Amino acid sequence: AAKTSKGSRYVFFSAPLNERVQAEMLMETLLRSALKTGLLKLHYQPQVRPTDGRLIGLEALVRWPHVERGLIPPGEFIPIAEKTGLILELGQYVLEKACKQAAKWRQTGFAFNRVSVNVSPLQFRQPRFAAMVRQMLTTYGLPARMLCLEVTENVFLDTSEQLVLDILSELQDIGVQLSLDDFGSGYSSLSYLHSLPFQELKIDRAFLTEADRHPQKEQLFEAIVGLARSLGLRVIAEGAETAGEYVLSAEHQCDAIQGYFCSPAVSPEHIEDCLDEFHKIRTSLHKQIEQKR
Ligand code: C2E
Ligand code: MG
Ligand code: MG
Ligand code: MG
Repeated sequence: AAKTSKGSRYVFFSAPLNERVQAEMLMETLLRSALKTGLLKLHYQPQVRPTDGRLIGLEALVRWPHVERGLIPPGEFIPIAEKTGLILELGQYVLEKACKQAAKWRQTGFAFNRVSVNVSPLQFRQPRFAAMVRQMLTTYGLPARMLCLEVTENVFLDTSEQLVLDILSELQDIGVQLSLDDFGSGYSSLSYLHSLPFQELKIDRAFLTEADRHPQKEQLFEAIVGLARSLGLRVIAEGAETAGEYVLSAEHQCDAIQGYFCSPAVSPEHIEDCLDEFHKIRTSLHKQIEQKR
């Protein structure tokens, strides 16, 4: 640490912070080159309809294969990408890969309704975002309704309500689906949820976790489903990890369930195997439920 005439700088350059800054700078450099060389991969996690187990959609989740560290999860590099502005390039890369994959699946007759792509706040409010989305759909010949864009409540931070509404409306005009991700986990947009053109609400995983074991958690989960219903929104339950959580989401008539119980996010080649596996579990689970009745 460098001690200067101004004593306070000593604190500013204290080792842990310095190390953190350096680690982030290294990460940024590596991420930039990973993007440039097309190293980033997309995994897809199924979203299934509980009534019949049908595949409703697939969420594209970015993965960074690293020689020493294996797959680096997005939670570690998306915040850095956001901070450095790299998210614009990353977001476009992900959108392109997902549209391309969706078009390919569609051509091979794989049955699904749509692919969901996460959109960061910075990416969402960049000028011409909607135009870029439209261009991507045209390039890959993907019908707009087969693309769903997920944004979190964070898009409302640092952005005027009017701007968010304008961007959402532009996207609505294109015909893509709009989903409010991680609902209930952040800044609450309850007051104007009814005036925003979302078709879908994804209940944050925190509300489902152990809701089958705690009646009060179940009541809260049920209330959120009810809220979404009263606003005419489809509901996805995120993060069903156990049979109990899956059954609970089904009992509360969520339109789709996404979670490790059904399948984790996997590479495109492995999706069909994972779905086969899920269908076996689902069949035996339904037999158990029948027997209990
Ligand atoms: P998210 O959009 O809410 O995605 C769901 C996350 O929950 C994924 O983590 C998924 O693997 C994980 N998950 C799914 N089911 C379960 C479960 O049953 N239990 C548990 N514990 N977790 C489950 P992942 O892939 O690590 O992504 C984390 C977050 O990173 C995402 O949260 C999203 O906010 C962000 N992210 C991922 N890919 C992208 C991307 O391409 N662009 C942007 N902007 N953000 C992305
Ligand atoms: Mg998401
Ligand atoms: Mg989510
Ligand atoms: Mg999340």
